Formats: sequence, C-alpha cells, structure tokens
Amino acid sequence: MINQKRLIQTFIDLVKIDSPSGEEQAIVKNVCQKLEAIGLRSEVDSIGNTYTFIKGMGEAVVLNAHFDTVEPGRNVRPQIKDGIIRSDGKTVLGADNKAALAAILEVIQVLSESTIQHYPIELVLSVKEETESGIKQFDFSHLKSKKGFCFDSSGPIGNLVTQASYITEFHLEVTGKAAHAGIEPEKGINALTAAAKAMAQLSWGRIDKESTANVGLIKGGEAVNTVPRKVELAGDVRSISLQTKNALLGKIEKTFKKEAEILGGEINFGKLPYCEGYVFDQESDLVRQAVEALGKIGKKVKFIQSNGGADANLFNARGIAMLNFGYGARNIHTVAEEISVENLSLLARLVLELII
Ligand SMILES: [Zn+2]
Repeated sequence: MINQKRLIQTFIDLVKIDSPSGEEQAIVKNVCQKLEAIGLRSEVDSIGNTYTFIKGMGEAVVLNAHFDTVEPGRNVRPQIKDGIIRSDGKTVLGADNKAALAAILEVIQVLSESTIQHYPIELVLSVKEETESGIKQFDFSHLKSKKGFCFDSSGPIGNLVTQASYITEFHLEVTGKAAHAGIEPEKGINALTAAAKAMAQLSWGRIDKESTANVGLIKGGEAVNTVPRKVELAGDVRSISLQTKNALLGKIEKTFKKEAEILGGEINFGKLPYCEGYVFDQESDLVRQAVEALGKIGKKVKFIQSNGGADANLFNARGIAMLNFGYGARNIHTVAEEISVENLSLLARLVLELII
C-alpha cells in the first residue's frame, strides 16, 4: 500500500524545487515527468495549471493541490529529526501544499502498481494559488467530475472545511480639495478628516460570528503644509453570508460618501470580486463520504469555517463540490513550518480512502 519511504522521498524532492508563486515551471515539469513515468499524460495550460486523467470505475472525482509556495521559499533545505520534517529555519518548508502534492502522487503510484478499484481521477494542480488564484484561468469545461477533494486547509488532519467566506476586496478614494494649510486652510477640503470620521462610525475587525471587515492600506496627503486632497484606503470584507458581506460593503460605501459630502468632497468606491464562499450541508453524501474516510484512518472529523480563500472556493463557485481537508502541517507560511512523517503518511492514506 502506501510506501512511506517513497512518500517522504517524493516530498523531500518536491520541496527542494523552488516554486514561489509565478515561478512554477520547474516543479510543473518535474511532476509531469513523474506522471509520465507511470504512463500518464498531462495537459499544462498557458500559465502552468496542470490536468491529468487517471482512468477508474464510477463517478469521476477531482483531486486538487497547488504547486506554488510563499516566500521565503527558495533553496529549501528540508531536514528530518525525530519524525518531524522542517526547513533549516531560513525558508518555509512548503508543506503548503507539497504535502498534499506528495500524498496524491504516492496514491497515484500505488494505484498504478496494484489492481485496487478506484474512481476515475481528474488531477488538477494549480499555480499562483497564494497570490492571484491561478486556478481562475483553468478551463473548467474540461472536467467531468461533480465533486472533488483538496488538502489545503491549515490545521490537523481531521479538519474539514464545510463553510468558507465570501470575500470582497474594496478600494476607496476620498477626494477633497488641497489648500495651503497655513495661509488659507479654509479653502481646503480635508479628505483625511472625512475618511477618519467615516472610519470611526463603522465597525471593524470581527463583526459577528461569521463576518469580518478590515482596512489594511492607507495612503494619502501631499505635504505637511497642505490640506490633504486625497486619501486612498483598501481593505476587505468577509462573511459566510453573502447577504451580510454585501450589507457591510454597502454600509462602508454609504458612510464614506456621507462624510465626504458633508465636507464638500466625494468618493470613488471600487470592489474586486476576490473569491466566492460556500456552505456544505453536514448531512450531504459528500460530507458523509469525507467523514467515513477520516474514520478509516482513525481521525475524528472537526467541521470548520474558513475565512481565507483557496482553490476550493473557485471549484465550488464553478459547480464542482470541493471539500477542503486539513493536511496536518504546522506554522505554515513561516520559517518554522513543519509536518510530521506520521501526518504525511496519514494524508496519503486519506487520499487513498477518498478515491476507492
Ligand atoms: Zn495552500
């Protein structure tokens, strides 16, 4: 079955290949070669998203992972000590998401060597997940599957994302009028005052159990002795409820507009559709299948709500029910990132249970 030694070696090999977001060419090539070696042809799109079909019986399922890693992620030197795999402390390890990638590759290898019956697999490996969600450019019309699994939720194996937030990034420009602050300040319209008044009236941070709002970027002003003509703010609003998310955005826009107009200024409010949320019924067949697979590897499920974006959001938005599992790494996106050999093996066993 799962060959732990080979799995670890695959993982080590993968993390040693530099693949910061947007620079995935080498790892795409390496993985395609690995698949080719077991007789599987892959299609790579113009940015590097990779599709591989593995024949099987019954309804097809998508297995998904992403190739890219965050910085500092170059020249990763993995080391294994007391059953834990870490970097040398200068870079991330890249278990996000190469633990999933290694586990999936191991399972595909196992299937190629055995007569185990399994579902047809559509392997979709994405690029730029950490930055601009490269999966957006993938041709979903390719896919036969109605469901799928990915392993890109931080946290222990057993975690299962059944709710993910709708997230919208907004950009706000408050425009007033510049004037010399010492000579004729009354001729100016202070954009910062309007923005500050609006900020103070609104709620930020955790709004309720399922929603958050934040302004994270502030820019503005021209000189210490000039009434600030323009202030730019950018932030995001997140909620499991699409309605709440939209209501929060509406309130932000309205409040800034009101405060700008009181002073004689104006605003420009722009929104980017960042990612779509989803909610799974915990009694649905797919969730039951996931819980059962976790049970088989000795893990109790913990349903969680995700407030970040992942490929799963996009699959779900495109009509493929995609469940996102915890993959058992710790301290991800830091140089202290680590995963145990035990979790790496458990992850491979989980992948196998899900497709047989
Ligand atoms: Zn990830």
